[in-house]
Order: sequence, then C-alpha cells, then structure tokens
Amino acid sequence: MARSRRQAEAANSQPSRGGGLPRTTHTGVNAADTKTVLISALLEVTGQVRFGDGTDIATTVTEKDVVLAPDGRSVEKAIWAGTKRRGVDRRTIHELRNRVGWDGGDCYIPKLCGMCPVCWLFGFTGTTQEQGSEVKGINAKSRVLYATSLSIQDTAQCLNRHSRNQVDEKAQTTAGSAGIHEEEVIVGGTRFPTYTSLIRVLDWEIGAFAHAFLENVNSNRYTAASRGQGGMKVVDLDGEPAVVVDESLFGVFPFAAPKVSASETDVDRVSKLFAATRNSPLSLQPFRAALEAEGFMVEAAANKLTATGGNVELVVETDGKCLVVRQGPDELMKRYYGSEAVGYLRQKQIEFQKQLADSKWRGEFKNEIKGYAQKLQGKAGEKPAEASGNGGTDAGTSDGGDGDGGGD
Ligand SMILES: [Zn+2]
Repeated sequence: MARSRRQAEAANSQPSRGGGLPRTTHTGVNAADTKTVLISALLEVTGQVRFGDGTDIATTVTEKDVVLAPDGRSVEKAIWAGTKRRGVDRRTIHELRNRVGWDGGDCYIPKLCGMCPVCWLFGFTGTTQEQGSEVKGINAKSRVLYATSLSIQDTAQCLNRHSRNQVDEKAQTTAGSAGIHEEEVIVGGTRFPTYTSLIRVLDWEIGAFAHAFLENVNSNRYTAASRGQGGMKVVDLDGEPAVVVDESLFGVFPFAAPKVSASETDVDRVSKLFAATRNSPLSLQPFRAALEAEGFMVEAAANKLTATGGNVELVVETDGKCLVVRQGPDELMKRYYGSEAVGYLRQKQIEFQKQLADSKWRGEFKNEIKGYAQKLQGKAGEKPAEASGNGGTDAGTSDGGDGDGGGD
C-alpha cells in the first residue's frame, strides 16, 4: 500500500490527542498511522431469515419500520438493525481471539474485560468494571460503526408467515409450550444494502471486521432464526461481488459511498450503485459528472480525470484494480470494487489472524494497553470529562445491549 512520505510525516507529527496521552501502535485508539475505511455491500437473503425475536400473539415477528418517500408516501421495510450485526460480529471476533490463545481471562458480551484488542476496537464501559480493575472508570468508544439496514423490497413483497409446530414423535400430537405458532420470515431474494464505517483503524483492526463480515455471511450467522433456515450472500453483479471498499488516511472522501434512499424499492437502480466499474473505459464517467456538477473543470484522459477548481486540483486515476483520488502529492482516497474489494478484506482478515496468533505481539499489546489505561485513569482523576482516549466519555460504548441476531 503506497503511502507518501509526506503523509507519513504529517501523521506522525500530529500532536497526540487527549492532552499528553501516549501514542499507541498496537491498537488504533491513539495511533498516528490509522485509516478510515467504509465498507458498503449489497447482501441477499438465501432461504429465510428473521432479525429480532419479538413475539406478537403467538407470532414470532421480524423487525419492520415505516419509512418516508420524497413524495410523501409511506413504505414499510424490513429492518436489519446495526446493533444485531455488531453483536454477531463481536462474538465471532471473540471466538477467534480465544482460539488463537489470548489469555487475558474472560471477555464476552455483556461482561467485557476492557483489556483485550477487541475491547479497544469495539468499545467497553469501565463504570461496570469491578473495583480494582485496570480500566475502572474508563470508557472506550467503538471505532466500528454499524448502520441499520433497510430491505430494498417492501414488506408486502419480502415478508411471509409460516406456521411452526413441534410434533411429539410418539403420540403424534403437537407439543411444546408454544404449540402451533406462526413465524414471520424475510424471504429469499430480499436484498439489504449494508454499510459499516471503521474510524481511525490499523490494518489488523480492519481485518477483525473483515473476518467477522466474511465468515458470518459465509456461515449464515446473520439471522435470529434458531433453526438456521437460511442466511445471506453477497449479491453477484455480472460475475463481480457487490462490495465497495473506500479507504482514506485522512478520513477525506471526495466521492460518497453508494448509499441507497430508505424508500427505494427498485432493485435494478440499487444494483447499479454497487456495480464494479473498474477497468472499463466508462469507469470514470460518473465521477466526471459528479465533479462537473460540483463546479470543477474536468479534463479527461484514458484512465485519468484532472479536475480543477480555484486553487484545488483533484486527480482521479484508475489502474484497473482500484480508483485513486489525489490532491497534489496527497492521496485522499482509494476505492476498491467487486473482487478487489473482497480481496482487500480477505488480505486484512489474514493479517488479523496472524497478528493475534503472535504471542510476542500479544505481550506487547498487553503492556501498551496497561500503560495507556494507567495514563487515562490518571487523567480521569484530574478531569473526569476527558477520561476517554477518543476525546470524552461516551454513553454508547457498552455492548451489553447488543442484539442477539445470531442463531446460537
Ligand atoms: Zn475484552
């Protein structure tokens, strides 16, 4: 991953945040060399899924919401809450952490340890820690943000009800406390555009999310239906997975992620947003139009656009693998499409696995986080409002409320 020397120097010369807190290198919480990464993916239900375990008079229901269209109409959509995805992902990452031999003691939802690599990425609340804990009173904000996802198809199309019963094999009667009951399911083919933001993360931290995302899709864990009736897959668009990864060192993204309006019900229109346009002579076309609409003068060459406006010159280039946006010598943003986007995630997943399996790294991580937590606690004594390394305590750090979207 090329990174200009100027950028590296600029990042390293930044004053450390949090007023004299030490720079970290093993966790991104106060590291200089971090990236912001936006992962956008279009997923499709295979079989049946259900999100949420609500019960409504002998019916197990899935979560729904009425959203508004620009013309004032209301559209009912199936909901896949971000908290559900986060809960399933975090557990998957905990499993890998434990399997590779992390020996920091128990850490699970909702009893988080506050001392492991996952806690400093996904957040924890120190107020609930036991007295004497190294992180008592410290909160860490999650740097992985899960957006709630709305189905493309409306509920008239994408929901169905089935009766479920438990049959006594001997008596041939229906047994179980629920007896015959109805279950609402989201049917196969329903599509969900999903968005995740990784804020100021290191490569292995991108890999932790990548591991959870790839493996949870692969092993059908994103559903609350306990019988494992079906899962999700990444939508295939002309042989390319519908995944877009945007990466930026500075957190500056001149082009927006492929967001879908809440009321959108047109599957084709959504697919176009996620289509891999790399290596095509037309690939820069949408960017040209966007830049011109924003008032830039655009000069187009084969695989390159040069946009000028005032003193600013933006260069957009594609090498067939990804799209790069530069401003002068600074690389602002990289966009990976389709297979390259999945390849990016796969590579990071393996880096994460290697990192966690390295006992030397684990030892260094523990030392670093111990020192960092001590500094934070010292600061907490002086000024409670600045207790967090992310610039303030945050009430939304606890994962105790994470939904149980998983079937286990
Ligand atoms: Zn932990």
